[in-house]
Amino acid sequence: MSAAVNTLSPAKKFQFVGGNLCLDFTNTVGGKRGLSTREHLNSYADFVCWCQQADLLDASTANALLRRSARHPDEAAAALGRAIGLRESIYRIFAALASGESPQTSDLDHLNAELAMHLGRLQVASNKKRFAWTWRSLDGALDHPLGPIARSAADLLTSTHLLKQVRQCEGDTCGWLFVDSSKNHSRRWCVMSDCGNAAKVRRFRMKSSRARSASSATSRKARGMK
Ligand SMILES: [Zn+2]
Repeated sequence: MSAAVNTLSPAKKFQFVGGNLCLDFTNTVGGKRGLSTREHLNSYADFVCWCQQADLLDASTANALLRRSARHPDEAAAALGRAIGLRESIYRIFAALASGESPQTSDLDHLNAELAMHLGRLQVASNKKRFAWTWRSLDGALDHPLGPIARSAADLLTSTHLLKQVRQCEGDTCGWLFVDSSKNHSRRWCVMSDCGNAAKVRRFRMKSSRARSASSATSRKARGMK
């Protein structure tokens, strides 16, 4: 095993709750943007790890990218910077749309610039009797996975129905994006057992504290206290 492969953190387990590749990519930041955030892509190896878990890369391609990134750390840092820049543009575009606003032109320009860099690698391949879009790899170019991510954002933006179902988690300390594919389109949380339960507990505490204040006010009144 090479030293480069050792840089992959096997313990890092990403969550995929967005129901869409580009939204899951925006959810590689914990916390709420603008308040407090926790970056989960702290190295190029983290990015490769996410891509593997998202089924964008098989193990041998992931290892090849990691080996190249170890030989070319500056190139790896630049690719990670581009990945994070694209992620934040995609986040701002869909967060704006989820709240009924128009995305910034600069973010759409950024997405289009990434698309222009990658779409030339798309090709049609035949697999038995079927044909499918595939991505031609460019001799281990470290920005290779950005193509499918940018295309996923373009597909979602141009979709007929899915775009209307993009939501942002209502959790106080969360801002994850997801496609609400629930039956009556009433999903409010990225993960019910996490942000949904936290909101339930908060509501319960507020209710209990209001009930306690009301009961002590009543007893003060009964005792003639102010
Ligand atoms: Zn959430």
